[in-house]
Amino acid sequence: MSTENKGTEVKKSLNFIESIIEEDLKTKKNNGIVYTRFPPEPNGYLHIGHAKSICLNFGLAQRYNGKTNLRFDDTNPEKEEVEYVDSIMEDVRWLGFQWEGEPRYASDYFQQIYDWAVKIIKDGFAYVDDQPAELISQQRGTPTQPGIESPYRNRSVEENLDLFTRMKNGEFKEGEKVLRAKIDMASPNMHMRDPIMYRVLKREHHRTGNKWCIYPMYDFAHGQSDYIEGITHSVCTLEFEVHRPLYEWFLDHVYTPGTIKPRQIEFARLNLSYTIMSKRKLLELVQKKIVIGWDDPRMPTISGLRRRGYTPESIRKFADTIGVAKRDNVIDVALLEHSLRDDLNKKAPRVMAVLDPLKLVITNYPEDKEEFLSIENNPEDESMGNREIPFSREIFIEKDDFMEDAPKKFFRLTNGGEVRLKAAYIIKCEEVIKDNEGNITELRCTYDPDTRSGSGTEASKRKVKGTLHWVSAKHAVNAEVRLYDRLFNNEAPDGHKDVDFKEFLNPESLKILSNCKVEPGLKDAKPESKYQFQRLGYFCVDKKDSKPGNLVFNRTVPLKDSWSKVNKE
Ligand code: ATP
Ligand code: MG
Repeated sequence: MSTENKGTEVKKSLNFIESIIEEDLKTKKNNGIVYTRFPPEPNGYLHIGHAKSICLNFGLAQRYNGKTNLRFDDTNPEKEEVEYVDSIMEDVRWLGFQWEGEPRYASDYFQQIYDWAVKIIKDGFAYVDDQPAELISQQRGTPTQPGIESPYRNRSVEENLDLFTRMKNGEFKEGEKVLRAKIDMASPNMHMRDPIMYRVLKREHHRTGNKWCIYPMYDFAHGQSDYIEGITHSVCTLEFEVHRPLYEWFLDHVYTPGTIKPRQIEFARLNLSYTIMSKRKLLELVQKKIVIGWDDPRMPTISGLRRRGYTPESIRKFADTIGVAKRDNVIDVALLEHSLRDDLNKKAPRVMAVLDPLKLVITNYPEDKEEFLSIENNPEDESMGNREIPFSREIFIEKDDFMEDAPKKFFRLTNGGEVRLKAAYIIKCEEVIKDNEGNITELRCTYDPDTRSGSGTEASKRKVKGTLHWVSAKHAVNAEVRLYDRLFNNEAPDGHKDVDFKEFLNPESLKILSNCKVEPGLKDAKPESKYQFQRLGYFCVDKKDSKPGNLVFNRTVPLKDSWSKVNKE
């Protein structure tokens, strides 16, 4: 990738959309205006793929001093819901973007789009077809075989106007009549074979109510909406490439000279390994209660990622890193997780939490004594300062940080072995207490009072192999910790022809630990606040279920990617 120096900033080379825009700016094509839009259909929650599109559209406008509209593509009356509209606005804002003015709705343009249909009829380029959908579809032919012209194709303008008006007035049943563009039934592009512009749908619309009983098709609404809003660059995903001639045909038939004509530009949609991005399938997971909702922390939705503990910065950085491609590809989900760790590493305060506690008694530490030890909040950022954590005779350590008969490479605590307690002392295990079944219930250790971290003594500089995190037992706060992992254990859960994607659900995607111990400073942790639990990973306070006195943490991501290791093995 070539770079060019611009002042102190090192600029990446332009992506192909930026090149198009810069060329347009140079030739003054749109009077120097850059106006993009993000056009979600409000039939589900936004996911990480949409986030890519949002970052791209808003990012282009920011870069070129332009504007971006948020437009709800609500031409389909059946599926849209207000809940989705609200969630979409929240997600775009959370990602850090603000659209121009009020949100737009394609449905606000129904009258204008209808008037344009009338104009196209008058110009002789559209006709009402009485044939059923099935027959129309049969007559389209195949890519190598031309289609068959409808017997209604050559109706007079007057008859078409009359029938279309009556369609609008509700005189026909669903499926009885459609309006079609009169283009070319032999076109090598199937989308140009007299595509349907309007169909009768006697359904209530979430915004226009029962005002309309005919609705424009996507192709005859999207470009028209772009045109109405003065969009200059209409960025969409690759599957619309074959629609582009139609996009342009419709625009050419309603265009007024001197106005801005939008240009459709396609880029490759984001595909992520181990991830489902189809709204229909995500909805299925929600409806079948396989996840707890659209914002389940395992969902690839923006609201799920947010609840999981993702930051907007990490998602924007990810979108920027993957760039804009012209060909379909699959991005490793590890890259998204990397971007997240990178961001949280800088921001998240370190704290101590023990997820699977084992009691450890320091027998030579006075029973009634407690002391406060200073510990840094983030070694990556001195400005985050230090805090004091209590230490006492009884502490908790992680059960799997102790092993009785440990192999040589086990650098944690063993019977008779020594470790350092983070920010505290070096301890030695003297005795292992077990219950009747042989389970370890307690460790008895001694400590060396001269080894306190940071005390500067010779003894404190002594190296031992392992350092463990811990929490003082009498000061610890109880918490529930939800260990989330990838929702699917297959790289391409919806890439298998004969196997349903749900077969690849990861049975380990959620483990709930209810007896966790966290340091006392977390007692009043605010919903959504993020921490690094030392040696364990990044965690955040669950915004829905965590309550004072009943803390719930979500594991956002472990410190290291365990999946790539698994795959290599
Ligand atoms: P569908 O049309 O099947 O409901 P969709 O994913 O196309 O689903 P839209 O709400 O129409 O959903 O998408 C809004 C915008 O987001 C569109 O411009 C679309 O191209 C873009 N988009 C959707 N999915 C992705 C993705 N995986 N990567 C990049 N952009 C995407
Ligand atoms: Mg779509």
